[in-house]
Amino acid sequence: MRRSWAEPYKIKMVEPIRMTTPEERATAITAAGYNTFLLRAEDVYIDLLTDSGTSAMSDRQWSAMMLGDEAYAGSRSFYRLVDAVQEVYGYEELVPTHQGRGAEHILSQILIGEGDVVPGNMYFTTTRFHQEHAGGRFVDVIVDEAHDPESLFPFKGNVDLDKLQRVIDEVGADRIPYISVETNVNMAGGQPLSLENLKATYELCHRHDILVMLDATRALENAWFIKQREYGYADHSVAEILREICSYTDGATMSSKKDNLVNIGGFLALRDPELARKARALLVAFEGLHTYGGMSGRDMEALAAGIHEMVSTDDHVAARIGQVEYLGNALIKAGIPLIRPVGGHGIFIDAMAVLPHIPQDQFPAQALTAALYKESGVRGMERGIVSAGRDPKTGDHHYPKLELVRLAIPRRVYTQAHMDVVAESVVEVFENREAVRGLRFTYEPDELRFFQARFEEV
Ligand SMILES: *Cc1c(COP(=O)(O)O)cnc(C)c1O
Repeated sequence: MRRSWAEPYKIKMVEPIRMTTPEERATAITAAGYNTFLLRAEDVYIDLLTDSGTSAMSDRQWSAMMLGDEAYAGSRSFYRLVDAVQEVYGYEELVPTHQGRGAEHILSQILIGEGDVVPGNMYFTTTRFHQEHAGGRFVDVIVDEAHDPESLFPFKGNVDLDKLQRVIDEVGADRIPYISVETNVNMAGGQPLSLENLKATYELCHRHDILVMLDATRALENAWFIKQREYGYADHSVAEILREICSYTDGATMSSKKDNLVNIGGFLALRDPELARKARALLVAFEGLHTYGGMSGRDMEALAAGIHEMVSTDDHVAARIGQVEYLGNALIKAGIPLIRPVGGHGIFIDAMAVLPHIPQDQFPAQALTAALYKESGVRGMERGIVSAGRDPKTGDHHYPKLELVRLAIPRRVYTQAHMDVVAESVVEVFENREAVRGLRFTYEPDELRFFQARFEEV
């Protein structure tokens, strides 16, 4: 019999949440311009906007914060973080940053030159922004299955080696400073890559002197899927698998607000001391001194504790992904079209399948996200054409094949009963889907527009 995914912890402190009235929610979403990023958190009942920085910390992490060494330079807490990253991820050089995009900024600036090309297994918003900001061009080399919400391929995060080879042949290896390889690919629905694929990618890149940089943000969750799905790994611990993932890379950017169970923090980790020297030289201008990046001593203590904790038992990640699967299975049973297999950090509803009457340039996923909030106070996020932004050359929208509503599950925060409420709310909206209308911009920011854009109904 399959062992239950029950949480390997009990609850010691609670934070009250409030159910709002339908009138309050209608007022709130109109005032927010149909953008759930612009809602006040107190108007939200169950907050599935993001799993970023929303984890519940453990008693050990909270007590570690009391040990924070706030020395400006050479803090004891920094060295504890260095040890944690070396032990769990296996990278020698640590460059601390305030969060993931800080690391992406530094990495892009030290490696990308004007006109360079950076292949990646699907784009991520901030990652691509920093690559373009440094003068580079992102090219998607993820497998085709990733763009197909119906495909049950177990490793939809894999790099398509033929696509990668074609990019190398077209632009030349000397124009490709590195490939950016993401684990549990966010925009594909939290889909893993296999170790076999990562190893082959690493070998191909190294034949051409191209570095492999990991977006390790959800590498732990990816390790869990490898344990479940990849031949030969069922008896490995996630800690061992995580180390092996990192062994096929030259460095990593990390948003510690996800796997690492903290509310703020991140790092750039590298193997090459010379690259690390360049990164530290920029770090002091953009983030902070090289022994704190953007973090306080107590932040680094909580982070070091979180890194150890996430791999201390496989039960942690089993429960985390088990809860996501529980919600996914409830929705699948109710006939809601969503990305399958269910990913690691959330549910991704196929908005074009739910709202075929809304054309993509009227933002179906944005409209569905707003409708779900209005129905139930559940807050999700658009991951479709609004997130994809515009092509900097042509000025036209990028038209992604996936137009999704993401319900991201914070780690260790909500219960199974909350997941039942979410499933009931989604079904309610689905049954009244003809009433949902398309949207148009009333304000469109130039960069990363999804964060602050405002809309009205067409
Ligand atoms: C969250 C995230 C980032 C950016 O990290 P921040 O901490 O939000 O700056 C980068 N890549 C992936 C895959 C992410 O999920």
